[in-house]
Amino acid sequence: MTRVVGIDLGTTYCAVAVADRSGSPSVVRNREGENITPSVVMFQGDTVVVGSQAKRSAATAPDHVVQFVKRYMGETKPVYHSESGTPYRPEEISALLLKRLKEDAEIMLGQPVEQAVITVPAYFDDVRRKATQDAGRLAGFEVLRIVNEPTAAALAYGLGQSSVNDGGEDGGGGATIGNVLVYDLGGGTFDVTVMRVEDGDYTVIATDGDRNLGGFDWDGALMNYLNGAFMASGGPDLNEDSGLQAELRDKAEIAKRTLSNAPQAVAMLSAGGRHEQIRVTREKFEEISAELLDRTRIITEAVLEEARLGWADIDRILLVGGSTRMPMVQELIRRLSGKEPERGIAQDEVVALGAALVALDAAVRAEAAEEKRKYVGSGASVESAFGDGLARLTKGKVKSIKDVTSQSLGMVTTDSENHDRQFNTVIIPHNTPVPDKKSDIFLTLFDRQRRLRVQVTEGNDEELAYVKIVGESTIEIPQYPKGAPFEVFYSYDVDGIIHVEVKDGTTGKWLGEFELERPDNLSPAELAEFGDRVARASTF
Ligand code: AMP
Repeated sequence: MTRVVGIDLGTTYCAVAVADRSGSPSVVRNREGENITPSVVMFQGDTVVVGSQAKRSAATAPDHVVQFVKRYMGETKPVYHSESGTPYRPEEISALLLKRLKEDAEIMLGQPVEQAVITVPAYFDDVRRKATQDAGRLAGFEVLRIVNEPTAAALAYGLGQSSVNDGGEDGGGGATIGNVLVYDLGGGTFDVTVMRVEDGDYTVIATDGDRNLGGFDWDGALMNYLNGAFMASGGPDLNEDSGLQAELRDKAEIAKRTLSNAPQAVAMLSAGGRHEQIRVTREKFEEISAELLDRTRIITEAVLEEARLGWADIDRILLVGGSTRMPMVQELIRRLSGKEPERGIAQDEVVALGAALVALDAAVRAEAAEEKRKYVGSGASVESAFGDGLARLTKGKVKSIKDVTSQSLGMVTTDSENHDRQFNTVIIPHNTPVPDKKSDIFLTLFDRQRRLRVQVTEGNDEELAYVKIVGESTIEIPQYPKGAPFEVFYSYDVDGIIHVEVKDGTTGKWLGEFELERPDNLSPAELAEFGDRVARASTF
């Protein structure tokens, strides 16, 4: 028997969890006995060291250590070149991390782990979701679902709540929490999501975030401050040397954590024969990072506005991600909302716990489908025994999970009068519940036009300069006079991944579903090649 796991693949740390058959999730420790594994990979000749040991080596072997790779997911540029010059893309580095997590889970659970649900920030776009899915596959997982981190967090939190309506007509009352705001500030990313949790239905209303805002940036602010003070006392610029810089980053991170509990921290810096103790107060730290915190405020308020809610309408505020331990975050939330954020959430683990619940749900449903296949013709009803996944296992506490799209999806459109003018037509607006399918009709521009080029855009703007082209496909079409209608259907699946289908408006015939060429994602050939390389790597 194999187990399915939920994985929080974070910028700075990863966590793995499993849920038992009663729907109760727990963290799976790594082989070092830690609940979370640093998202750090170190290359040492033919072996790859992952986690704490790699993190400890970041300062001594900075050129062989790769971290914060989540920030680059969906980009084609290699994030590392091996000594022999082999380039590694972000997906492959993430796959090495995932491979290690998989091996650790197998050791700890004592059974094979082949299927996983992996979480991503809610605002991750199609390319980044696909890159995450590819990383999972490269690591040897069957990726059952890609789930949004705030949704996973709310799910784990909601299930743990005692305030459920017990009883009810269907025998089990669902969790009711009301409007929940999830403020998730991790190591490298920031996410805000407003969702409604009512009678076991988890419905996301609005979400947004910044993929380049997290604890990493607070470390950066502190690094600048410490380095400035070190230079002012006659020391060399620590940013000039990658080893010294990595050491400075470590010390800044430690000082930052200290400042979450103490009013001041001291960093010992040494270089060029100088040794300095640099003191920093919490007040100073808050001053030098005020701009970063304010960026989270702006996004949070925008999401509330998008949800058409005010702070008074928010019933619970969940703080997720290690960086919400900074007192300035809690103070910001109190000041804005006039409410106390929820306590007792395991900031580093709650996302993985939620992912484990989704994984269990997916596994139970797959089992039900399998049972159903076996029983076809026997007349037995298995629907009632297995059919409703998590809803049954949690006795109705979790009935449904409805997420939304974080990006508007559209198509490059050519003006029928002036063929030089192209603009973006939005087909699925952002914050639309997923899965969703919408269409728009496009007219051919020429007599006997043979092909239709579908360029998929992400973004709200009509101007192409302000949107991103995430994929394209050229479709052979029957030839008609100019102005023939073709209906282009876009859909987002539950994982937030895009599919495109085209229908001939003249005959009403489907021309099929088209595989998008995604220039920023791995090709099938690369997937096969990198998959082999990841499988061969020895990870420790
Ligand atoms: P996550 O990716 O959610 O695990 O968050 C990791 C981030 O949380 C890193 O940037 C850590 O430096 C930060 N972090 C963890 N603990 C603390 C703490 N006590 N105070 C401030 N930041 C913390």
